[in-house]
Amino acid sequence: MITLSAICKTYQSGGKRIEALKPTDLHVPKGEIFGIIGSSGAGKSTLIRCVNLLERPDAGAVLIDGNDLTLLNDSQLRQERQHIAMIFQHFNLLASRTVYQNVALPLELAGVSKDAIAAKITPLLDLVGLSDKTNVYPANLSGGQKQRVAIARALANDPKVLLCDEATSALDPSTTKSVLQLLKTINQKLGLTILLITHEMDVVKQICDQVALIDDGQLVEQAEVGAFFAGA
Ligand code: ADP
Ligand code: ADP
Repeated sequence: MITLSAICKTYQSGGKRIEALKPTDLHVPKGEIFGIIGSSGAGKSTLIRCVNLLERPDAGAVLIDGNDLTLLNDSQLRQERQHIAMIFQHFNLLASRTVYQNVALPLELAGVSKDAIAAKITPLLDLVGLSDKTNVYPANLSGGQKQRVAIARALANDPKVLLCDEATSALDPSTTKSVLQLLKTINQKLGLTILLITHEMDVVKQICDQVALIDDGQLVEQAEVGAFFAGA
């Protein structure tokens, strides 16, 4: 589903070259929850941002369903990106829009009709457990509820892939657990492929199928989660 082939990324910062990502290969099979762990500064964010080309790798290929995103023109890339959803640590909801309006946004941008949007959003809010918060503004939601809105919004355009960048790092342990359970449910119900980065081992243990460890811009280990933690 996702194949990264020899992607690398160097930043220039204050006259210094920072090799954030050394040539890296990664394959995430369809329907898996794949975790990337590593310490702060290891290159996790850079890696995940390369998957939707928020960050353009200096070299290498980024294949989604066999389609190399690095070869697309701007309008083709915009099209493909509609099906690569992402959620973040700080939710990125629009404060001036209700729960319903936040989830509707990607559909409005895609030109979907009002009726079709309504038909789509009702089951989505049901799935994430927020049917009773339809007309509430983000300021009146808990952190866990905000992330559920972000997840519903991410699912609105029927993504092939969901990228999670430290999606539970701002949440307390019990809220983290319930958001992870929701991601697992979505993975199982919709067969959605999920690539998730985190610095928390527990997150990986709870829901991932495979895990890769990144250190100093390099993948140093990759295994099924059971095998990965068997020696720990
Ligand atoms: P899928 O999403 O079913 O894995 P792909 O089209 O991405 O489909 O890949 C087809 C097959 O090729 C996969 O099942 C996988 O075993 C193999 N494959 C492709 N690229 C790699 C890679 N970089 N590392 C390991 N296996 C790979
Ligand atoms: P992680 O997500 O694992 O914390 P990052 O991918 O954010 O790691 O960062 C990897 C390295 O690249 C770090 O040394 C970081 O300081 C550097 N880096 C990340 N983004 C930029 C940027 N826009 N400009 C300069 N350096 C950056």
